[in-house]
Amino acid sequence: MTEKVRVRFAPSPTGFLHIGGARTALFNWLYAKNRGGTFVLRIEDTDRSRSTDEYIDAINEGMQWLGLDSDEGPFRQTERFEIYKKYVDTLMNEGKAYHCYCSPEELEERRKEAMSQGKPLKYNGKCRSLKEPVPGVNPVVRFKMPREGQTVVDDLIKGTVSFENEQLDDLIIQRSDGTPTYNLTVVVDDVDMEITHIIRGDDHLNNTPKQLQLYKAFGYDVPKFAHLPMILGSDKARLSKRHGATSVTAYYDMGYLPEALVNYLVRLGWSYGDQEVFTKDELIQYFSFENVGKAAAVFNPEKLLWLNQQYIINTPPERLAELVIPFLVKEGVIVEDQAVNMQWLSKAVTTLKERSRTLIELAASLRYYIAEDVEYDEKAKKKFLNEKSRGLLVELKKGLQSMTEFNEAELKKLFTSIAEKHDVKLGKIAQPTRVALTGGTQSPGIFELIDVLGREKTVKRIEKAIGTIQ
Ligand code: GLU
Repeated sequence: MTEKVRVRFAPSPTGFLHIGGARTALFNWLYAKNRGGTFVLRIEDTDRSRSTDEYIDAINEGMQWLGLDSDEGPFRQTERFEIYKKYVDTLMNEGKAYHCYCSPEELEERRKEAMSQGKPLKYNGKCRSLKEPVPGVNPVVRFKMPREGQTVVDDLIKGTVSFENEQLDDLIIQRSDGTPTYNLTVVVDDVDMEITHIIRGDDHLNNTPKQLQLYKAFGYDVPKFAHLPMILGSDKARLSKRHGATSVTAYYDMGYLPEALVNYLVRLGWSYGDQEVFTKDELIQYFSFENVGKAAAVFNPEKLLWLNQQYIINTPPERLAELVIPFLVKEGVIVEDQAVNMQWLSKAVTTLKERSRTLIELAASLRYYIAEDVEYDEKAKKKFLNEKSRGLLVELKKGLQSMTEFNEAELKKLFTSIAEKHDVKLGKIAQPTRVALTGGTQSPGIFELIDVLGREKTVKRIEKAIGTIQ
């Protein structure tokens, strides 16, 4: 029988969902989907001074946007204190943990002393053998780490990593105010939630031997571990704000498609031959730990931008039209609640998607389709709206007004006949027209441009352009 896979994403809500967290969530999600397993979301909010509801909302929002729905949860650790307490009590009763009354000042003193003597900075075990409680002091609870031997982490990505037990501290598992600490809660929850695979950033690798000792103390089977390589900035330093936006929602704001970001994130550490663009179904099908690299991954914003463009090109126009609406509002092209003909917008989007790297760029280019009027680029105006083009524009205007069928093929015929009559190249008419219609010299093909813009707007703008030439 194959084992039922259960994985979890366990963010601490002390900040927004960032690139590294999103990648961890994604690898968990993909592995669950690949194995027909369950993806659990657990909010590790025991650090009450730094955790906020706003960050929890932001994490949920980011995951939702990326399409990483959880099958169970979100659970919140602050709602589970009773459970942790029971586990701490068990360890106390079995003599595997002890009360420690050493004050922070005392510990600091000893730390300094150890440092000056070049000794390891770990708790000296003073309270391990204490018989009587110290009156008037709320103790912390420490876990008795073994002092000899090794703890071996068998990692699906890193391979075998050994830790000397004498380096491991007698871990504080409960603070003096009675609240549990990270290493305890994470193990209790992973046991309680029957997690089979722990997939997380390798910044947690040093915690794993401590957690393995807790599993052992509780007598539980150890899950499998997969520690993901770090994500670095282009300067090879750990990815941080210095390298640009790191929160997932910032990528929404910048006009990225969630599919593009997912595709980008998965390639931070994982590969499949030299394929770069994957559908979600392909990712689910191909995902495995064998293809996760050991080396740190480097975050490359240009590649993300490139991928985003690929996704914009390949996304059905109807969906792009829907996605671009909030950006049209943000760019001031339309006002909120303004009715937009979606069928028309899809058509307009189709003419622009090849030249848009983000939804913001797409929204900005849509401006000349939607706005009542255009503003001329001064250089373009000077070069193309002048005496030489005036006659052509007048003739074009007349031609447009008398067309019976208004479509790309008919438009082409009209342009061609005017060009032939005046013995000029098509561009001599197209470029001034383009400036008249868009204000600049860059746009989709002139016929599709006019077709999408419609006769009324086109004629009005050409009239205006003629007017400026006087
Ligand atoms: N809450 C931890 C963090 O946000 C993750 C714990 C884990 O995955 O084991 O870094």
